[in-house]
Amino acid sequence: MSSVVPQSIYPLNAGRYPPLRTGWSPPGEGTHVDKTVARAAVVLGAPLLGTRAAIAYLQTGRVTDSVTVAGPDDQTFELRTFSGTAPGTRLPQLLSVAKGELRFIGPEPLPPPHRRFTRRASGDHGHASVVPGIFCTHRLRAHTGLTFEGGADHPQSPTAREPGPWHESHQSLLRGKNVALIVRSVLARTLGGRHDSRLIPDEVHLLGVRIRNASMAEAVHWIADAADGHHGPQVVCFVNPSCLNTAVVDAAYQTILREADLVLADGIGIRIAARLRGFAMRDNVNGTDLFPRLCRRSARDGLPLYFLGAADGVARAAADAMTQRYPQLLVAGAHHGYLADDPELESAVIADINSSGAQILLVGMGTPDQEAWVTRVRERLTVPVVIGVGGLFDFYSGRIPRAPLWVREIGMEWVWRLAQEPGRLWRRYVIGNPLFLWRVWRERKVNGDTITAHQAHSAAA
Ligand code: UDP
Repeated sequence: MSSVVPQSIYPLNAGRYPPLRTGWSPPGEGTHVDKTVARAAVVLGAPLLGTRAAIAYLQTGRVTDSVTVAGPDDQTFELRTFSGTAPGTRLPQLLSVAKGELRFIGPEPLPPPHRRFTRRASGDHGHASVVPGIFCTHRLRAHTGLTFEGGADHPQSPTAREPGPWHESHQSLLRGKNVALIVRSVLARTLGGRHDSRLIPDEVHLLGVRIRNASMAEAVHWIADAADGHHGPQVVCFVNPSCLNTAVVDAAYQTILREADLVLADGIGIRIAARLRGFAMRDNVNGTDLFPRLCRRSARDGLPLYFLGAADGVARAAADAMTQRYPQLLVAGAHHGYLADDPELESAVIADINSSGAQILLVGMGTPDQEAWVTRVRERLTVPVVIGVGGLFDFYSGRIPRAPLWVREIGMEWVWRLAQEPGRLWRRYVIGNPLFLWRVWRERKVNGDTITAHQAHSAAA
């Protein structure tokens, strides 16, 4: 994927923050809670800070590194981090909070000349800018690859440097929501890890499968582009740890994944595996999050979709739900996915897809059956793009509730799924997840890192 696609600056859920209701107050006011908590943390955590400082000095010959960032009222300050790669790099930021330069909750610190404005009660823009913070929703989502979920605190969002949610009342540590944000951030960081210093290759090779390291926007762009073309079906697959475990023991499925035109990284498991290899994944490009974005793009570009899969009536219900959400969406057809034992029905469905004018076919029969089906009938399909989407229609028809965003933010959607269908899924997750990580770790030991020189170059550029 060579074309550069701008990240959406108009996120789907922009505006979900409540309107500002309380009066404007100067920046720095209300920081006393943050200061007190930070001072207490510095005193209580002094042995930890001292140990981390010593490790930094032993590793690098320096204790801290610093960057100049924009504070309120056109002021700048030095934001310090511990040198070296050991955990706890950002602990010195507690000192900035103790001094009142930084808060626990607030937009990501940016280099000058960025300023962020608060809003006065009257609605006009205050002249004072808001205090940056250690934790914010955008950073949280960066750890688990969900930055495409947007939010008004996105550093590139127009709202980030204009009136946004960063009013004193929103920054207050005493808000339950903010405490929850801190807890989720710590959990997500533990699972998803820091990604800033890692290589971001264009592709990651895991257990014999080449996975495109695309952002959500790039993946949607690739599919829409291919759907507009006139080549034979281009096949798009999503892989999660369960898929890669299957590919290890199912040679036919592994061949399908190797020959697919686009393989995307679905879920936190691939992210952790890449991290074990020292790489960073751009986004968690799972089918369930990509789907509404693809519908929005298809509606905009006039690309008709065909929904094939799940039990009778479920694909149609999902199609209806999406046309309600995107009235311009063109649904070329919908059919259940139980075709395996009925060649006549299968031929009729293929004829229906081909004559429907669909430019994107979504096949939701579960992995690896859907990929096997697509491979078997590929020559008979004239639709430009086919995407294997697993149990997607069950979610969008409302048959199975999707995990709430906060669960996905901490990388725990698989626990949610396990709780819904423990009998069917325990083997996939409870045995499959550790087995997958062990296989990735062993592959690294045997083969070393599979990043190519070209990838390393493009990642470093
Ligand atoms: N399914 C289907 N045809 C079949 C077998 C299954 O359409 O012959 C559907 C099933 O109804 C469900 C989906 O495939 O909607 C499988 O969901 P699952 O969550 O197992 O798929 P995954 O996302 O894990 O691949």
